[in-house]
Amino acid sequence: MKGILLTKPESGFQAAVTDIDEAQLPEGDVTVRVDYSTINYKDGLAIAKGSVVRKWPLVPGIDCAGTVEASSHADFKAGDQIILNGWGVGETHWGGLAQKARLKGDWLIKLPSQFSTRQAMALGTAGYTAMLCVMRLEELGIKKDMGEVLVTGASGGVGSVAIAILAEWGYKVVASTGRLAEADYLKALGAAEVIDRATLSEAGRPLQKERFAAVVDSVGSHTLANACAQTRYGGVVAACGLAQGMDLPGSVAPFILRGVTLAGIDSVMAPKALRSKAWSKLGCNIDAKKLDAMTREIGLAAAIPAATDILAGKVRGRLVVNVNA
Ligand code: NDP
Repeated sequence: MKGILLTKPESGFQAAVTDIDEAQLPEGDVTVRVDYSTINYKDGLAIAKGSVVRKWPLVPGIDCAGTVEASSHADFKAGDQIILNGWGVGETHWGGLAQKARLKGDWLIKLPSQFSTRQAMALGTAGYTAMLCVMRLEELGIKKDMGEVLVTGASGGVGSVAIAILAEWGYKVVASTGRLAEADYLKALGAAEVIDRATLSEAGRPLQKERFAAVVDSVGSHTLANACAQTRYGGVVAACGLAQGMDLPGSVAPFILRGVTLAGIDSVMAPKALRSKAWSKLGCNIDAKKLDAMTREIGLAAAIPAATDILAGKVRGRLVVNVNA
């Protein structure tokens, strides 16, 4: 089979499209013929830097969608179409950026009937995480008539899908981006207003003018601290990413003086019931035209330079990887 293989020779680190012997596939009770994978930010870290790789050699790819070829798991049989997101795949277990994957059936969910395997990967972990963020805002009491919702890292994968979901559900979305030239793209996804991320990315005061009812943040660092400081009394900030940095240089003031809730979102180890719920909501709430507008398809070879591009913040929306191209 063809796939991307990450290897660590004596010095350095290599990523290359290679012919891989299927006998090398890891243990697992389901073998999948992969149609599509994706490049998420974490895939960028794995392929361009090797920094999330915990096992060498490794096929990267934290996501895949395809068809079951063989299964000894009770819930899956040959011919079923499945999605895989996370669970350490593409970090500790061989992942989706190859023509085949061997996985644990407990990790898989059935492809929602509304999606092709390509559309599922156009969403991928980024899209499913965006849905986890929005679901958490609603669980914590945020409603569309409460005020504006800020989405940071707006032109990226999580940001683009979060805007589309929030707009579909009737929220007034403010998109924060470093790429103001993408304002038309962000408005077409449903953003009511586009702001320059520079207004959020520098050190700010602990409490600022109250503006946002809620926030979906994929950026971290000063941006997250400022987003908390601009969240209105009783608001909720869903934090899922670190594109600016892993630090959180803020204060407790928004939490103890304005009752703001900071809600952490993890997609990797999310329980199966929660991920199934998120995918089923994506199935009902994603406009296929918007999904197309945010997606670009590439082949395996192009996935390697794309890893560097996503870390540099140069990828707009989502990259879907056709592993058979
Ligand atoms: P993308 O690269 O597609 O999006 C990130 C966006 O953040 C960029 O497009 C850019 O948007 C913005 N950005 C990039 N660099 C900076 C910077 N230095 N300062 C401020 N903004 C910046 O990545 P994904 O959408 O795939 O992932 C986003 C983040 O979420 C990543 O940190 C990723 O690791 C995390 N993540 C976490 C998950 C979880 O389970 N918790 C799951 C999925 C992702 P713009 O140009 O519009 O400003």
